[in-house]
Parts: sequence; C-alpha cells; structure tokens
Amino acid sequence: MRRDDLLAELNRWLNVEQIQDYCPNGLQVEGRETVSHIVTGVTASQALIQQALDVGADTLLVHHGYFWKGEAQPITGMKKRRIETLLSANMNLIAYHLPLDTQADFGNNVELLKRLGAERLEPARTASPEGILMLGHYAKPLSGAELSERLESILQRDLVAAVVSDKPIQRIAVCTGGGQGFIEDALNAGADAFVTGEVSEQTVHVARECGIQFFAAGHHATERYGVKALGEQIAEQFGLRVTFIDVDNPA
Ligand SMILES: [Zn+2]
Repeated sequence: MRRDDLLAELNRWLNVEQIQDYCPNGLQVEGRETVSHIVTGVTASQALIQQALDVGADTLLVHHGYFWKGEAQPITGMKKRRIETLLSANMNLIAYHLPLDTQADFGNNVELLKRLGAERLEPARTASPEGILMLGHYAKPLSGAELSERLESILQRDLVAAVVSDKPIQRIAVCTGGGQGFIEDALNAGADAFVTGEVSEQTVHVARECGIQFFAAGHHATERYGVKALGEQIAEQFGLRVTFIDVDNPA
C-alpha cells in the first residue's frame, strides 16, 4: 500500500486535525513510499526499532514518537542513534499521541475500559480534548480490591500505587499514561474510581481527602492497547502485515 494513502486514512480515523498536541502526529521520519509490514509498539525506543528491523518491517507505528515540545532540539546522542537507525534502514516512523489516547472506538482509554469490563462508555465533559478522560459504568458494582485484582491480571503487573476504600465502584474514569493530573476532572465527573498510569505525591492526597478511589497501573502497561488495536484495524482494512511488539517497561 502507498504510505501516503495509509497516512491519509489514519489521520482521518484519528481525527488528527482537530486535536492540539505536544508533538507532531502522523509521519515523523520518512522511509520508503510503500508499506507492507508494520510493527506497532508503545514507544519508538532503540530496542523497538531493532526488533522491527529483525522481523523485516518497513514501518514502525507507535504511541510515543519523537520531537516533543520542550525537549532539546539538536539531533545528538540517543536521538541521533534512533533517527540514524531509522533513516539508514529507510524505515517510516508514524506516531499518534493524544489522537490515539482519545479515539472513540479503539483509543487507549476505550481499550482499557473494555478490558476492565466497563459498559456505557462516554467521554467526561469535564476534560478536554474530548475523550482524554473516559467514563464507564458497572451494572454490578465492583469493590476497590476487585478492581485492583482485575487491573493486575489484565496488565500482568503490580499496581504502582492505589488508594482503595469500601465504597462500591459504579462509575469509573480512565486516562491512560501520565494522566494523574486528571483526578479532579474524574471527581467532578462523579467517578467513584480513577485509573491512570502514573502517580504524583499530591494525587494520593486528593484521592484520600475527596473520596475517590485511585489506581496507578503503569504508564506503559495502560498504553499498550490503543496502538495494538489500531494495528489490528489496519491489518483488517488493508490486508497489511502488522506485528505488535511489547518492549516491557516498568514505568
Ligand atoms: Zn503516554
């Protein structure tokens, strides 16, 4: 498939033009014009690039790419090595950040909520861009201990931090990755529990003092599923070969 045709479709699925972000979304490093084998993964680290090369991929599709607002601009050190490896292999790097968190059918937030068995998914009106904080409901309320167990078994890791109480959880809010700052939006949206990837010192106080249960389940672990689902969608729609590779990260 022509790379630019694929990009046009992806940009449309992910509503890229409507979302303000901290990095460029779409093609970040240009490689060959024809795409036949895509490797998907969370972050375009050197290890993931190498594994993509090892399986013979021509395109790498990730959630965390490069060129973040505020980062040092010179292409030196780690950044040089990564970009050099991509360019010398003529490999495309395609990245979608916030558009992939917020996507309504297969974004990171929606994919995690589905795995957690929540229903009636909807974006919280208290947070923007739309979909950055997603709500789900449990017809049969869960306890905090049950939600902890469910997270650990789905994500295959221990929680980073949790504030759990006896209050049944009926409404759950999710913002994957470094979303701890959305705890107040989750509270304002009436959530009984808030799940994200990371924790800050103050997040714990908000949870304890405002009565919302809180679960930090890992930045990487909570963000595996959007890019994986996007890859599956690409394989199904366009018949391209897509391989998801998880390079584990304890953060
Ligand atoms: Zn992230």
